[in-house]
Amino acid sequence: MMRTGALMLLGVAAMAAVPAMVRAQAAQYPITIVAPGKGPYTFPEGYQTPWDKIQISVTEKMSPNLFVLHGSQGLDPAHPDASGGRAMVLFGPDGVLMVDTQNRQVAEKTLKAIRSFTNAPIKVLVNTHIHGDHTGANAFFASQGAVIFSQENLRNEMLRPPRRANGQPAPAPDMAAVPTATYNYSASAPGQPAVSFYMNGETVDFIPMMPSHTAGDTIVRFRNANVIYIEDFYRNFGYPFADQANGGSIRGMLEAIDLIEKLAGPDTTLIPGHGTLVKKNDLLAYRGMLVDILARVTRWRDQGKSLKEVLAANLTAPYDKTTQGDTQQSKDRFITEVYDEVKDFPPIVDGKRTMPMHP
Ligand SMILES: [Zn+2]
Repeated sequence: MMRTGALMLLGVAAMAAVPAMVRAQAAQYPITIVAPGKGPYTFPEGYQTPWDKIQISVTEKMSPNLFVLHGSQGLDPAHPDASGGRAMVLFGPDGVLMVDTQNRQVAEKTLKAIRSFTNAPIKVLVNTHIHGDHTGANAFFASQGAVIFSQENLRNEMLRPPRRANGQPAPAPDMAAVPTATYNYSASAPGQPAVSFYMNGETVDFIPMMPSHTAGDTIVRFRNANVIYIEDFYRNFGYPFADQANGGSIRGMLEAIDLIEKLAGPDTTLIPGHGTLVKKNDLLAYRGMLVDILARVTRWRDQGKSLKEVLAANLTAPYDKTTQGDTQQSKDRFITEVYDEVKDFPPIVDGKRTMPMHP
């Protein structure tokens, strides 16, 4: 009787152990290997990014064959918490699918990081938006065999770039860097994937976004890993940035967050282009700040205040303590964008807006 009981107990223990192990394995992901730095960071005047010192490494693993690449902290004043914009790599027997390509200056190092875990051919690349920390090594990875996907607006922004902030025309594009497979955002079906790839046991959706960080944004969903790369309309290092010259919009960023609330489950890992990994509930405080600042700047506009007066009012003060990477430049840029948007916001033409100059 005693023996049978012990055996039965053993049996129960063994049966219970199997699902617990499976649970433990599934719960391993995401694995953060190197978290972005917290700062604060300061750089002397005239400081130039020492690209030769910047390392590109695997910073997060989202599944056994879905890795994230990011740069070193403390060296790149554009992104001191971790240089460049996150890139993602899905790999396996069907080849490599990449999300974004990091800065041009570190292209070889990005490839070397990929070659540290896979020898599979580079096949597909999708750009989440036009910025150089996300598309800088496009031409390099196209030469490795990648077909580049993006919104049509991103292609247009590359082919016919907006004038620079100083009013000077931008240089001509490198045609090898320009996406060749394009799709459009449809306002009647937000959240609908434009392209789906079935590769390496994963289903990958390219979901075009409304004009938000730029007019050519795409988020990338990995269904099995339960991960969405949400690029730069959300950030938790520095104040929000809508690149309005490339068709971005602060109000569009609000819409983008609301769409993520619908697309993501409570446990879906959201991967911003910069800052720490988050879940959808983490976006709510950021959303609240956008709504609040939009309302305050609109009130100041209604009272006929100038941009200079609005900037002097220091409207972001309540958020400075909780905003990592808070700098004067980052908050002035944010308030200027909100002011321009509620004052006199030019329409999107060919993926771009002709924004007013602020001398
Ligand atoms: Zn970025």
